[in-house]
Amino acid sequence: MSKSVIVAIDGPAGAGKSTVARSVAQRLGYLYIDTGAMYRALALWALQTGVDLDDFHRLEQLARQARIEFQAERVFLNGSDVTTDIRTPQVGEAASKAAACGGVRRAMREEQRRIAAEQSAVMEGRDIGTVVFPDAQVKIYLDADPGERARRRAVETGLPADQVARDMADRDHRDRTRTEAPLSQAPDAEYLDTSGLSREQVEEAILKLVRQRTSN
Ligand code: C5P
Repeated sequence: MSKSVIVAIDGPAGAGKSTVARSVAQRLGYLYIDTGAMYRALALWALQTGVDLDDFHRLEQLARQARIEFQAERVFLNGSDVTTDIRTPQVGEAASKAAACGGVRRAMREEQRRIAAEQSAVMEGRDIGTVVFPDAQVKIYLDADPGERARRRAVETGLPADQVARDMADRDHRDRTRTEAPLSQAPDAEYLDTSGLSREQVEEAILKLVRQRTSN
């Protein structure tokens, strides 16, 4: 029987992870899991219920109670469709704050491992190749130059580029310097700078790597 394959894609905000990971998963017939959406859904719940983002005890309780599901490219929190609501800059910032909590990370990690336990998956986030699936067969660290990342995000959100650049720099700094599972490149991850590459080129590079790593 063939063993399931994990393709771990990590990297900072705006590196192009989501678009590429979704498409690669589709082409491989694997499950696609956007772990950032899980942290965002939890953060949305904390904002809605007035839970302080410094209250790690309550945040962990919320993370254990949250029912976060993916269905046909939509994200559900406790049965409600939150796909659009989790994409605001406020929720992004709150997600990054909640993600510093060790208890939240443990709950998310358990859920991520459970989802991908029996199916091949492309999972993207910040700590997939380093912490969630350190034995993943394929690990990619996607990066792009900060100006380019901010430009892409500004186009996606319609927000002013300088504001996006500032928010992104803050969020990246928080994600890279936290004690629990900070954003970093796994030693055995392939570094891919997407700055001058088209989406197709990035996808092809990843698919080539998947073929190499899974052929024997
Ligand atoms: O990927 P996205 O920008 O949607 O993630 C939102 C936030 O969730 C990130 O800034 C990061 O703080 C957190 N996150 C994380 N670990 C992951 C995925 C996301 O800490 N695996």
